Amino acid sequence: MSRTVYVNGEYLPEEEAKVSIFDRGFLMSDAVYEVTSVLGGKLIDFAGHAARLARSLGELDMASPCSDEELLAIHRELVTRNGITDGMIYLQVTRGNPGDRDFAFPPASVKPTLVLFTQSKPGMADSPMAKVGMKVISIEDIRWGRRDIKTVQLLYPSMGKMMAKKAGADDAWLVEDGYVTEGTSNNAYIVKGNKVITRDLSDDILHGITRAAVLRFAREAQMEVEERAFTIDEAKAADEAFITSASTFVMPVVEMDGTAIGTGKPGPVAARLREIYLDEMRKAAI
Ligand code: PMP
Repeated sequence: MSRTVYVNGEYLPEEEAKVSIFDRGFLMSDAVYEVTSVLGGKLIDFAGHAARLARSLGELDMASPCSDEELLAIHRELVTRNGITDGMIYLQVTRGNPGDRDFAFPPASVKPTLVLFTQSKPGMADSPMAKVGMKVISIEDIRWGRRDIKTVQLLYPSMGKMMAKKAGADDAWLVEDGYVTEGTSNNAYIVKGNKVITRDLSDDILHGITRAAVLRFAREAQMEVEERAFTIDEAKAADEAFITSASTFVMPVVEMDGTAIGTGKPGPVAARLREIYLDEMRKAAI
């Protein structure tokens, strides 16, 4: 069945939705995005995603296409029209269509392009992967230096996922100057003793919305949180490892470059944080 998607003020069947070939999102990757999960028909941490979108737009001097209230209404309308119980809402804002190709940013009269669509994933919170854990490989982080901005420049993350697949793994962790930055599409964590360790916030990583919530819950549960860079060797010697993202929540990592982490099975800290995260976020969903 065809989805109903949103393009610049209109709800349309997906086959009828169109964006210009001159759109800067298409020609220049001049665009930012957000992915918000839906559980039980409700949005998970919409406020967090709306705030990060505003920040990404601000950092790139890109106009905001509409207010947060309007964005929320569009998200909800798409959930309803597409009958989404569990899944994701993908949102993208581009610098619009100047009618030609030019490196210079277009004048303010060129309006941003706003596109949203749904991805239905029934039962996504019961992913079998959460029970067995993920295998990851390490690869060099050769992305640009503003990873804190959620741009659609996803070619290297895509290549990283393909490298992982080729190596028989599920994903890749990116390494720069000997230290893990993050996963291809998630934030990376290790657990040593009672300590949850994850890279500190800077331009080097995306400031995960799930990361912020999970660290808050970890502290509330009296876990010790250390925000600092760590190495792949530390990850291999850790008791546990896991990732977080809006669509995977908290997902255990059980193998790094072919070496089992801890027992080689999902650990108790990741399991507990996943449970708390899902419980609390379901309660707060709107
Ligand atoms: N880092 C990167 C590079 C990502 O692409 C993502 C997910 N988009 C994340 C971290 C996790 O962010 P969030 O928890 O907001 O989904």
